[in-house]
Amino acid sequence: MICIAVANQKGGVGKTTTAINVATALAATGWRTLLIDLDPQGNASTGIGVASGSRERSTYDLLIDQVPLRECIQETRIPGLDVVPATVDLSGAEVELVGIDNRTDRLKAALEGASDHDICLIDCPPSLGLLTLNALTAADTLLVPLQCEFFALEGLSQLLQTVERVQQRFNTSLGIVGVVLTMFDRRNRLTDQVSDDVRSCLGALVFETVIPRNVRLSEAPSHGLPALVYDHHCAGSQAYMALARELIGRLPERRIAA
Ligand code: ADP
Ligand code: MG
Repeated sequence: MICIAVANQKGGVGKTTTAINVATALAATGWRTLLIDLDPQGNASTGIGVASGSRERSTYDLLIDQVPLRECIQETRIPGLDVVPATVDLSGAEVELVGIDNRTDRLKAALEGASDHDICLIDCPPSLGLLTLNALTAADTLLVPLQCEFFALEGLSQLLQTVERVQQRFNTSLGIVGVVLTMFDRRNRLTDQVSDDVRSCLGALVFETVIPRNVRLSEAPSHGLPALVYDHHCAGSQAYMALARELIGRLPERRIAA
């Protein structure tokens, strides 16, 4: 199973929207996909249609109680897409992990458990705490959503320093599959300027696909549906399909979908 962490320590940059819609696009392409909700807010779980009342096992059980992966996985109504949902008790996990041996390896160990998936996406919380460190330690590669705003590059350099630290100490093979510009607004001059800066700084690391600011993307979660299902034709959905195609092309092990 290829494992991709969707991370950026800033909140509201499009991590969850990206995780949900890329996961849906991969599932639609024939990949057996697992979405792991590692944010105590549980937005990915809600957005994929798993309401808080119907979360049986969670990432808390997986990390803290070491419940086997298979038992924590729930089906979604999207064919080919399963989820390990998050519950609010995950907010305590950050503190509980501090006192545990191998505190950065918990997720990695859990994902070594049996599952039938080709790929998993981990939706990270907006911090560089132990939950995100667990994701970076478990992941093969990192997908970074970046909003084109003034301090975007400063935030990114902090993230890249953390990635370097993880590469040195916990996960020597961690890669970065790419940075995706989100909530892109062509009419905004600052967006263009930041986007130019990011591209000249990071070059080919930045995906060609940009995700436009699109109201359908923000409406979809309240219906418990990925935008790709809620409105397949909207500009946001089309952009996420394109991003998934570009992502597949960059993955180390390709798998031709059935
Ligand atoms: P994060 O997980 O990084 O906190 P979210 O994916 O939850 O970010 O996005 C933050 C908010 O912005 C949410 O309300 C989401 O619906 C909205 N949003 C995300 N991407 C877009 C977009 N491309 N266009 C419009 N709204 C978006
Ligand atoms: Mg989120």
